[in-house]
Amino acid sequence: MTGVLRFRVGFRLILCDGSGNDYYCTVTAVDKDKAVCQVDEIHPNESELSYDLTLAMSRIKQEKLEIAVQKAVEIGVKRIILFASRYTAEPKVRQDRIERIVKEACKQCGRAVLPQVSFADNIDGMIDKAEGKLLVAYEKADLQSRLSDLIGQEDGYSVVIGPEGGFAREEIEQLAARHAETFSLGARILRAETAAIVSLGDVVCIRGE
Ligand code: SAM
Repeated sequence: MTGVLRFRVGFRLILCDGSGNDYYCTVTAVDKDKAVCQVDEIHPNESELSYDLTLAMSRIKQEKLEIAVQKAVEIGVKRIILFASRYTAEPKVRQDRIERIVKEACKQCGRAVLPQVSFADNIDGMIDKAEGKLLVAYEKADLQSRLSDLIGQEDGYSVVIGPEGGFAREEIEQLAARHAETFSLGARILRAETAAIVSLGDVVCIRGE
């Protein structure tokens, strides 16, 4: 690792341990496979959103799922729930790859808190893991139901995205029974990964962060 990154004694770098702080360090010794750093200063990392944002994403094809996960981390989600529902065609997920993508996206965008990834086998299991106001992207929602009307100053939101086959009507009723609200992303049907990115981006823009 030290060879690849070409560490030298005296180099300054910023490290984080996933707990929300940035450690400003100086390299004090280097050998073949490790570098020793001295911590000069500790600062809270300021890249986290002030509220809790979750992506509850249907299990779609691995490569599309990876795009949604990577962008969700960049946008600032604290939690990703990968769930199966009636029309899920891709029940298997390569968890190791998803976790690697979360870590890399975190590093790339300078976040100091690693979002958690969890799994649910059905809608109820997903709702049990979700935090904050449940917002469901539903292509059959009234076109006037927009995210901007559903977002105030809540402490958190879980944005729920359906699979390629969409949600079954009973699943929408199940979600409504657990106080979820549906919203439309407009008259065009978006791919699930596009819907995830647009919805999360909208939340962040509406909240002004
Ligand atoms: N099979 C569905 C159909 O043909 O009507 C489309 C499902 S879409 C590819 C996958 C998911 O993206 C949906 O379940 C929904 O969560 C979200 N989505 C796509 N377009 C949307 C829209 N215009 N409004 C709200 N959600 C949308």
